[in-house]
Amino acid sequence: MPEVKTKQSLHKRNDELANTNRQLEILNNGIFESGELPKFADKIAQNGHSSLQPKKLEILQINVGYMCNQVCEHCHVDAGPDRKEIMTRETMQQCLDVIKNTGAHTLDLTGGAPEMNPNFRWFVEEASKLGIKDFIVRSNLTIIRANKKYYDLPDFFAAHNVHVVSSMPHWTKGKTDKQRGNGVFDASIKALQELNDRGYGMPDSKLRLDLVYNPSGAFLPTNQEAMQKDFKKALLEDFNINFHQLFAITNLPISRFLDYLIASENYEDYMYSLVEAYNPSAVSNVMCTNTISVSWDGWLYDCDFNQMLGLKVASKVKHISDYNEEVLQKRNIVISQHCYGCTAGAGSSCQGTVA
Ligand code: SF4
Ligand code: SF4
Repeated sequence: MPEVKTKQSLHKRNDELANTNRQLEILNNGIFESGELPKFADKIAQNGHSSLQPKKLEILQINVGYMCNQVCEHCHVDAGPDRKEIMTRETMQQCLDVIKNTGAHTLDLTGGAPEMNPNFRWFVEEASKLGIKDFIVRSNLTIIRANKKYYDLPDFFAAHNVHVVSSMPHWTKGKTDKQRGNGVFDASIKALQELNDRGYGMPDSKLRLDLVYNPSGAFLPTNQEAMQKDFKKALLEDFNINFHQLFAITNLPISRFLDYLIASENYEDYMYSLVEAYNPSAVSNVMCTNTISVSWDGWLYDCDFNQMLGLKVASKVKHISDYNEEVLQKRNIVISQHCYGCTAGAGSSCQGTVA
């Protein structure tokens, strides 16, 4: 089995960027405070948006814990084996009660590595009985090969008709391992082949397998369609691997990617390129307009990024135990300068481009 080597999270290292207030301070001060660059709220106001409001709720995204078997360089969750925040069965039950009554058609489980939550399988079994149309699990692939207790995950996913969405920053070992850790590429290839063996990602198969690309440095993704073609060709030719769609996601200046930007002295240039690439037509379709994000401890956020910055929903309903869709739909979305990552170029969301 290929070895996946790991480092430590910012949290474990007691790095100042493990503190969400410090991250927000960086995002709100400096070039934005001095007026060198316009704040996101001012920018969207130029296009007639005095604030961002939710539209119809379509996606419930649940983060079942920050524990992960990897410590990827750009992780906005700051996940890793040393993170102990894990959703309890009680909070999962509260989520199930909400899923039963929500108008959302998509359930999106994320982490960390969601499979590392000891109640993950129970939760998937229960949630899959509730008739949600699209049930996504964001699997990092290597977890499938990390330990024999996970070897049967492809069968488990198939049995519950789970839609697997997995990160794959490149079709070559060098670029993938640089961003995600030594050994990640080989383990991911093996996992993809096993998923293909169960029918995942095969042309015309109902078992959906999508990949997520995010850039390996301080630059924006290029055209999603063109990249998908390149990925498909290379993975098929080199490893006989099939998948359905590629989602291109922009790295947001949060957590370990913010740390990387600052350490490599790219922060200001990166923010300039996000602002320069601002696309007004992406604003109305940003992810927070159709999503609610739930954290491992049941708090509600407009999106996964706001969750990682500790920005809870601006509503009197703030926790899954008090969930009320009607009340939540009347909130204003909490925004800051990281939101430029969602409106740059063709836009970016957990489902790829939006414009
Ligand atoms: S990016 Fe995904 S796989 Fe990598 S450390 Fe973060 S949660 Fe884990
Ligand atoms: S970061 Fe979150 S709140 Fe900001 S635009 Fe993107 S999805 Fe919306």
